[in-house]
Amino acid sequence: MGSAVEQNVRAITVADRLRAQGISRRGFLKFCASTASLMALSPAMVPAIARALENARRPSVIWLSFQECTGCTESLTRSHSPSVESLILEQVSLDYHHTLQAASGEAAELARETAMQENQGKYLLVVDGSIPVKDGGVYSTIAGITNVDMLNEVAAGAAAIIAVGSCAAFGGIGHARPNPTGAMPVSEIVTDKPIVNVSGCPPIPTVITGVLAHFLTFNKLPDLDDLGRPLAFFGQSIHDRCYRRPFYDKGLFAESFDDEGARKGWCLYRLGCKGPATYNACATTKWNQGTSFPIEAGHPCLGCSEPDFWDMGSFYRALSIPTEDTTRTLVYGVGTGAVLGAAAAAVARSRKSKAKAAHYKVSVNDLEEST
Ligand code: SF4
Ligand code: SF4
Repeated sequence: MGSAVEQNVRAITVADRLRAQGISRRGFLKFCASTASLMALSPAMVPAIARALENARRPSVIWLSFQECTGCTESLTRSHSPSVESLILEQVSLDYHHTLQAASGEAAELARETAMQENQGKYLLVVDGSIPVKDGGVYSTIAGITNVDMLNEVAAGAAAIIAVGSCAAFGGIGHARPNPTGAMPVSEIVTDKPIVNVSGCPPIPTVITGVLAHFLTFNKLPDLDDLGRPLAFFGQSIHDRCYRRPFYDKGLFAESFDDEGARKGWCLYRLGCKGPATYNACATTKWNQGTSFPIEAGHPCLGCSEPDFWDMGSFYRALSIPTEDTTRTLVYGVGTGAVLGAAAAAVARSRKSKAKAAHYKVSVNDLEEST
């Protein structure tokens, strides 16, 4: 990994590698256009992307998996070949990844240490999973090193960090009450490095590779929202782009999963859809190579890309107005699509004005009914 051959491989530009893969100049420009689309950039940026990729070197990536379920890696590996996502992944040097690397034991740890030494200050650190800090961090260790110690060690030499998935970004299920391991997100432990949060449970693979593509092309992280997420993918709510929105605006809601409204594809708001308070690209990028997304399959959005979504009440209870002092629900308080639309706009404004979590909750009425 540290040999002269490896160094030369890393010195080869992205354009060189694509040419070596048999991709013509025309194919390269097409790749640049697809990359622009992947990063949600204007087609006018294609010449600039082509120039940047002509000179871009292959960055070293160290991927640390902590307290997680491997869903984030499973999501990433669903970037089927020969998609732009898979081509982007081939342009980075994935020097350490527990699940994907062939090496194990001491050889694996040596790979991590070598990558760190050879690329001090330049490598990209990707983290999935939360970091347990209770009782000295003993609840999760790798090679005898606690997750928190390994994170601090590797983060120190990183150029930037991508926190992949809601666990690394916001703590996720490990952080949910009662949080027995003291699970924390990356940003609460590392405070002196640029961090981008690619939240979601799991995150959309296109978004992961979109951020990688941005770093590869411009050698910096993309613009972020107030929760550290890439604006290009998290700038609009699921509800903003949902194809069921016309039904919402007309006040046409499914009341159960098998009623006439459900069969007609009406809005899933009353079945607990958190789309109005959830920012992610599912409604546009979709999943499985753009095939579909949960709402298209008939299931409400669970809000998986928002902080503390596990703790925010039942997945199947209707969303409440997101204020600190919630005492009523949109469902029980109002009846027409127009009024709901205004309330959803208030949801969005409130969400954007907060520095941290979206404080949506189930209504007091709902809680009383359930106890
Ligand atoms: S509430 Fe959910 S299903 Fe209804 S329009 Fe919004 S995102 Fe779509
Ligand atoms: S639709 Fe909602 S719950 Fe489903 S993956 Fe997208 S953000 Fe997560």
